Amino acid sequence: MPTPPSEFRYPCEQCGASLTFSPGEQSLKCPYCGHSQQIGPGAARAPARSKREGADGDRELLRDPATGRALQWDAGRKVPQLSEVPLESGLRLDASSDLTQEMRMLSCPNCGAKFDLSSDQHATKCPFCATPVATDTGSTRQIKPQGIVPFVVTEDQARAALDDWLGRLWFAPSGLVEYARKGRRMAGVYSPFWTFDAETASEYTGARGDWYYETRWVTQVVDGKQRRVQQQVRKTRWTSVRGRVGRAFNDVLVLASTALPRRITDALTPWDLSHLRPYNTQYLQGFEAEGYTIPLADGHDVARQEMAAVIAMDVRRDIGGDEQRINQLRTAHSNETFKHILLPVWSAAYKYNGKSFRFVVNGQSGRVQGERPWSVWKISAAIIAALIALAIFLYVAQESGYIEFSANGFSADSGYTIQGY
Ligand SMILES: [Zn+2]
Ligand SMILES: [Zn+2]
Repeated sequence: MPTPPSEFRYPCEQCGASLTFSPGEQSLKCPYCGHSQQIGPGAARAPARSKREGADGDRELLRDPATGRALQWDAGRKVPQLSEVPLESGLRLDASSDLTQEMRMLSCPNCGAKFDLSSDQHATKCPFCATPVATDTGSTRQIKPQGIVPFVVTEDQARAALDDWLGRLWFAPSGLVEYARKGRRMAGVYSPFWTFDAETASEYTGARGDWYYETRWVTQVVDGKQRRVQQQVRKTRWTSVRGRVGRAFNDVLVLASTALPRRITDALTPWDLSHLRPYNTQYLQGFEAEGYTIPLADGHDVARQEMAAVIAMDVRRDIGGDEQRINQLRTAHSNETFKHILLPVWSAAYKYNGKSFRFVVNGQSGRVQGERPWSVWKISAAIIAALIALAIFLYVAQESGYIEFSANGFSADSGYTIQGY
């Protein structure tokens, strides 16, 4: 394994060993002598649990109307010390730009995850798919991270959360649960994301539908007699409308890696981005840093789609009424900026019976998500147990005279023999 460049190593003042970042505290700790050194001013706060702010403050979130995913935090919660980068300068990056840096990367031959070699610790197995990582892809020019949310959840807490989650899974193979529980190490990975800001102004034409009811007399046949009855029929009155809506998007979050399926990472939301700090390699000590594999332009496309879904929701609200039609919608984006940020994820991947299972824990909130393992044996056993219980119930019920099986129905002697055979 190559020695990391000296600028990325933080030797212990007391014994010279490499310090590691200690989750939940604003400090680096020596794993050998216990000495700790502060990183910058102030302590890292754990995510607030109140309704108004923090990782559980769902009210502050804007959700994608289609999927329910959290899209962003309220624009009032911006981190002042973090600078946004104009989108234009990110999209036409040249080698001389100070937005970028040369990075040496390791990549996973199976899932394609890339890992920054400048952090001082490297797993020999990919933390996302348990495949040995060997390929040194040489150096690539990457956009530098502007911000990072340091780990708040410790490895022990992450494992406890995972244990709890596994324990609540019915029909998970016991072997896998045991295997996962046996003090396996989890890998702390800073995963790459893009965030986008934009001011949008949209013009639309469409129609507003208002419901009204008409009373009709209809002829119905009741008890063999014809009768006239009143019926309420709902109708919609459409009026054409046009209008404008505007919205300032703040920190629309897009995953910049393809290593984990989006349904897994989406389930880790929300992230409290008000705890972003300026990027500092000290936070990486003892952790893996993943490089982005989804380029800025592609991430921007995803963000535009998410914004479009929210704008359509705004338009419907603006139209009002009971139903809405949008015929034309044109949106102008301005003041577009982006940030490249790293978010903390505890990851565990197990190869079990030739299949890999992946589990991730949000390193800020402790939320767990993973691939749901099923045990064929446990499911079969449960079905057999249910059938036996049903058979006993039917037997007891028949003995006590609650049900009687008729001759042409379900009976022990007739079985399933088919006439004529
Ligand atoms: Zn030390
Ligand atoms: Zn992998």
